[in-house]
Amino acid sequence: MTISGENKLDLATELIHSDDKNNRVSDVAPPINVSTTFRYDKNDLVPWNERENLDFMDTTPIYSRLSHPNSTRLESLFSDILDGHAVIYSSGLAAFYGAMTYYNPKQLFIGQSYHGVHGIADIFTRNYGLVQRPLEDIEEYAREGDVVHLESPVNPFGISYDIQSYADKAHSKGALLIIDSTFAPPPLQYAWNFGADMIMHSATKYFGGHSDLLSGVLVTKDESVSKKLKDDRLYLGTNVPNLESYLLLRSLRTYEMRIRKQSENVIQIVNFLCENKAKYSTVLKEIYHSSVQSEKFVRKQLVGGYNPVFSISLANKEQCKQLPLKLKLFQHATSLGGIESLIEWRAMTDPYIDQTLIRISIGCESARDLIDDLTRAFDSLKDF
Ligand SMILES: *Cc1c(COP(=O)(O)O)cnc(C)c1O
Repeated sequence: MTISGENKLDLATELIHSDDKNNRVSDVAPPINVSTTFRYDKNDLVPWNERENLDFMDTTPIYSRLSHPNSTRLESLFSDILDGHAVIYSSGLAAFYGAMTYYNPKQLFIGQSYHGVHGIADIFTRNYGLVQRPLEDIEEYAREGDVVHLESPVNPFGISYDIQSYADKAHSKGALLIIDSTFAPPPLQYAWNFGADMIMHSATKYFGGHSDLLSGVLVTKDESVSKKLKDDRLYLGTNVPNLESYLLLRSLRTYEMRIRKQSENVIQIVNFLCENKAKYSTVLKEIYHSSVQSEKFVRKQLVGGYNPVFSISLANKEQCKQLPLKLKLFQHATSLGGIESLIEWRAMTDPYIDQTLIRISIGCESARDLIDDLTRAFDSLKDF
């Protein structure tokens, strides 16, 4: 968004004003709309088969599975902050399902990714014979219309892949690159700068930020693609629900402050752990985070700061069970991105993962307090 054609506004301003154009009433805070259906305008009685496209839905909602006032606001806001044409969904996985339904590739090239994304790929394999291949196979096997799906930074480790190198490989074969940028949304990472064709986010994580809503978003550079995604969404029934859309709008107002604080916190904490690793050598074995990677592309991709999720491995499984119990400020729960710090023994949700892996999602508390909590807990684990 710009003010009268001048410079693009900064993220913090866009988060608060990009949906001003969608105001329908004089309320400063967007109202919660619960209606599923909206009265037709007696001066605009155009039958469906005479409509050229579905653009009218943004100004005159009809039925909330198509669009409703706050889903439209969210799309205005996300289109600005994510620099493309945004389509909002009921969850991150609903967004990925929408992308797969639209592209309908014969082959999907995919590496370490969020487990639910693999689950959707498996449904496409079961129902439609989608061929799945590892990322290493792109150059040998990819063809026109295939999709490469890359998550960076990747769950659960919080380390980065070289996005541009995968974009180049995909494009040289006529394949498309989807980037799951959930772990590092802007201002941390701008995946468009590294050749992405579509970007997805689980808005449940940093954009929502309070562990109280599910949503997801796809962004494209091509407006016609976003229109087709909306056409499909209408039938898939995966638009964001009314109440969640209000919560997400409210959360987005403070998103910039939260992500910056979380990113500042994580670097202090990871630096502290790296510097003091020897002190806890009977507990702390490995630290995984983008900030620990030495490859040049990592800093180029994470221009606005490091992702607030990292992982550690401990010396044994018993310590993994005990660590969450010893902590006072980190809650033992899955998910990430909220203002409250979370810790998860990954074996709880992932059967295939290293059984001594712990994922940590840093929130907005004071970094010093979080470090104190962790060191106290590590000290008490030395004899396990
Ligand atoms: C959580 C998550 C998803 C799925 O999002 P939901 O909103 O839970 O459906 C997809 N990708 C990544 C990287 C995630 O962390």
